[in-house]
This record gives sequence, structure tokens and C-alpha cells, in this order.
Amino acid sequence: MRFDIMTLFPDMVDYILSESIIGRARKSGAVEVNVYNIRDYSEDKHRRVDDTPYGGGKGMLMMAPPIYNCYSAILEEQKKVGLEVEHRKVVYMSPAGKVLNQKKAEELAAYDNIIVLCGHYEGVDRRIIDEIVDEEISIGDFVLTGGEIPATILVDCVSRLLPGVLSDPECYEKESISSGMLEYPQYTRPYEFHGVKVPDVLISGHHANIDKWRDESARRLTEENRPDLLKKENF
Ligand code: SAM
Repeated sequence: MRFDIMTLFPDMVDYILSESIIGRARKSGAVEVNVYNIRDYSEDKHRRVDDTPYGGGKGMLMMAPPIYNCYSAILEEQKKVGLEVEHRKVVYMSPAGKVLNQKKAEELAAYDNIIVLCGHYEGVDRRIIDEIVDEEISIGDFVLTGGEIPATILVDCVSRLLPGVLSDPECYEKESISSGMLEYPQYTRPYEFHGVKVPDVLISGHHANIDKWRDESARRLTEENRPDLLKKENF
């Protein structure tokens, strides 16, 4: 999978995606992440990328031409490596988009390339969305200052579904949301912490009982924190 991220703040994105599991996946080649600075594609001698909105209103809006130039440069680069158009998706991170969930992450993981546009300030000129974006995706019902953190969230949750990123696919198959429920509580050493011991069943060595305890605990936790999940056929 190749991610191409268009942003005004490339360091924000690159830093987060260079650490830990995703950083290692980039190094091993399991995931490719390219980050582009939209400002480099400005047509203005002062490298301007935003302007005031037509019709008035507060704040600045990202202009269409620098974004379009950046997008065109990415496509040119992709042509050279022979990437197929039908396996590409262009996403705009936006609070006005459909909210990201595990099912959407799984759907996105089937593409070869995702181009991600990060907005900033008051967002982007609508014409760029209409022309190049396939889907607007939100990471939740709240508004952030920019699309950089949402983009890293999208790259992270899609990447960990790809072959070679996690050491064992079971890691995500059994965890919260993917399994349709929240994950059961987990414990590690020390056996006793602040007077609380690890549940007996987990050190019993009886695997059927451990599975039963985990299923029941997961269901209890889901009922408490996310009863909505239990009503969904598949998330
Ligand atoms: N004026 C826009 C609106 O009301 O829809 C909000 C713009 S927001 C301040 C700036 C940028 O942050 C957006 O263009 C988007 O890229 C990003 N952003 C903010 N909240 C987001 C969210 N919940 N999910 C995804 N992206 C978000």
C-alpha cells in the first residue's frame, strides 16, 4: 500500500508515522508513505496557499490551485511506477465526512494507493473536493485545527491491517471493534499490583476456561461501554 499525503505541515505527519510499528513497516517496505508540502506547489511568488472566502466570513480557506498542482505531481510520479488508477482512492480528511470506523479501514486496506488531503484553517475550496476527492472522511464528531492528525490516524488504522505490518494478524482479529465487541481485560507481570492479583483463571492453564472468562468479560465490558456494538450485525 502506498499513501500519498498532501499537507501544509509535512513534519507533523512524517514524525508520527516514522515511529513504532508504522515506522518499522515503512522501513521494511510493507507500507510506503510519501508526504508532500502543498506550499511547494503554490503558483504565488510568496508561496501563498490560502485566501479569504468569497461571500465573507471569518478565517482563511486553502486555495484550489496549489492542491491541484500537488495532486497532479503525485499522479505523474505514480505513472512512472505504473500504479493502476482503479486501485487508488483520494480522501479528504474533513469533519463533514462520514465517520471512520473499522469497517471503513478494512475497505480502504484493499486499495493499492490512498491519496490523503489534509485541510487546515477553515478548510479547502469546494471545487478541489468536487474535482479530485472520492470520499470525505471524518475521525469523529469534533473539529480539529487541521487534517494532519486525522490523516495519521487513517494511515495507522489501515496500515495495521496490511500483511507484514503486525507480527501476527491475530493481534487485530481478536481486539476491540474488529471482533464486534470490546477486548477482554488483559494482565501482565507483576502478578500482584497495589494489592490486586491477576484473576485466578488466567494462571490456571485451563484454556477452555480462559476463553470462556475472556468472552464473558468482553461482553460485560461491551455492555457497559459500547452497548451499541452489540446491536450491530457487523461493524
Ligand atoms: N470549516 C470546516 C467545517 O466546518 O467543516 C472545518 C475546518 S477545520 C477547522 C480544518 C481542517 O481540519 C479541515 O479542513 C479538516 O481537514 C481537518 N479536520 C478537522 N476536524 C476533523 C475531523 N473531525 N475529521 C477529519 N478532519 C478534520
